[in-house]
Amino acid sequence: MKVVKIAISVLLVVLLLAAAVAVVILFRTASVSYDIPETEQVRYDHIPHDEAIGRLSQAIQHQTVSYLDQQDIYLPEFESFIDFVRDTYPLIHEELELKIINGYTLFYKWEGTRPDLPAAMMQGHYDVVPVEPGTHDNWTHPPFEGVIDDGFVWGRGAIDDKSGIMSYLEAVTYLLERGFEPERTVYIALNHDEEIGGRQGARKVADYIIENNIDIAFLVDEGMPVAEKIMEGLEHPIAMIGVAEKGYLSLELEVNKEGGHSSMPPRENTIGTLSEAIIKLKQQPMEGRFTGLLRDTFEPLLPDLPFIYRMALSNLWLFGGVIEERLGYIPHTNAALRTTIAPTMFHAGIKENVLPQKANATINFRIHPNNNIREVLYYVQDTIDNEKIEVRVLDGAREPSPVSSTSSEAYLLTKQTIHEIFPDIPVAPAMFLAATDARHFTEVTDHLLRFRPIRARPDDSSRIHGTDERIAVDNYSEMIAFYIRFIENTTSGL
Ligand SMILES: [Zn+2]
Repeated sequence: MKVVKIAISVLLVVLLLAAAVAVVILFRTASVSYDIPETEQVRYDHIPHDEAIGRLSQAIQHQTVSYLDQQDIYLPEFESFIDFVRDTYPLIHEELELKIINGYTLFYKWEGTRPDLPAAMMQGHYDVVPVEPGTHDNWTHPPFEGVIDDGFVWGRGAIDDKSGIMSYLEAVTYLLERGFEPERTVYIALNHDEEIGGRQGARKVADYIIENNIDIAFLVDEGMPVAEKIMEGLEHPIAMIGVAEKGYLSLELEVNKEGGHSSMPPRENTIGTLSEAIIKLKQQPMEGRFTGLLRDTFEPLLPDLPFIYRMALSNLWLFGGVIEERLGYIPHTNAALRTTIAPTMFHAGIKENVLPQKANATINFRIHPNNNIREVLYYVQDTIDNEKIEVRVLDGAREPSPVSSTSSEAYLLTKQTIHEIFPDIPVAPAMFLAATDARHFTEVTDHLLRFRPIRARPDDSSRIHGTDERIAVDNYSEMIAFYIRFIENTTSGL
């Protein structure tokens, strides 16, 4: 009898605990909310939409293509683009000071009425990636004609990043025509080699700023969009401001051994040893946690998510592990979660019946801001755990960027501008998964914000750097309005 009594008591306790857990889960799920602040929408009635679209179309027609091999770059197109900008925006060239940095990067200074204030800076790039050979015919409209059709402007650079820099120029012209004077000085950089690393453009601009002790309060660059349908079951778009970007590291792994004839193979050979090391790295990826910035990115999405996701994401104390596992399966969420590992090259062997004496592989890491280069190196050595494999750091390694504050004036004013131009759209900080020129400015300012007011649908990600890049005509008008408002908000009434 006593045993039965104890069993019943235990069962009751378990049931009570389970009920308590269920209550906590449901309470936390129900209390999810994200308030979009009540903001009055700001409209500009006199933006010359048709002319502006025509000018963007012309900008696309200049084939300012960047190639890694400098010899392939056709500089006359860059020169004609600069002439085009000068001819097309005469007011800017009367009122702003233009300095050409390193031959091709345009660096404007719009002097404020209070030059003692730290300056604002906006940048973008006018170089574009090439159209992959053999894919020209796949385009609905040729990539360098800037055809306006079906509500879009088509062509290489329509999204990345000619719409960005051209909308800056439209916004500044609009404001100049109305006699607007910024209080703080505004610097605008239109860089010419972002697509190949920015060492000749953005890097030189950053050096110029540092050498001349120019005080920059914040910098806005290309970056995250107003993304539509980023998750299944989620209808609401979300605007994301990139406050960090990942670091970069390529390692070469090499094994040397005695060769020999493949008729009497030893138990281990170079290809096998190196393959095992790569498999170990793939099977034990670096840790990724659903915390900090990634969690902040999801926060505004919670109220709109289907119940099951909402429940899981608002009860991380219980479901955190499951969520991390799920996010790890999807390439773009996995990239936001952790330092990623991508073997990109493998070389070994010269003949079918000869054991190779040497095998080497290159592995590319994109380093999450939670990690650094030293930790990645330690992780690689520790995981492969094989002294016969030599590990070398290749050129171009860089640490992840610092994470810009989301409580800074620059962030809050960017957020406010988004609400004013894109009403009813939540805003979240996020990590930019690719690289931008902003990374050259970490010594210039702590406040680097990577955002473009571009409405991106899921299929747009294949258009950027791919086929049929295009931007909606209506969206381009929103971009111009955004930058007009952004300059007003961040440079006046200080
Ligand atoms: Zn770009």
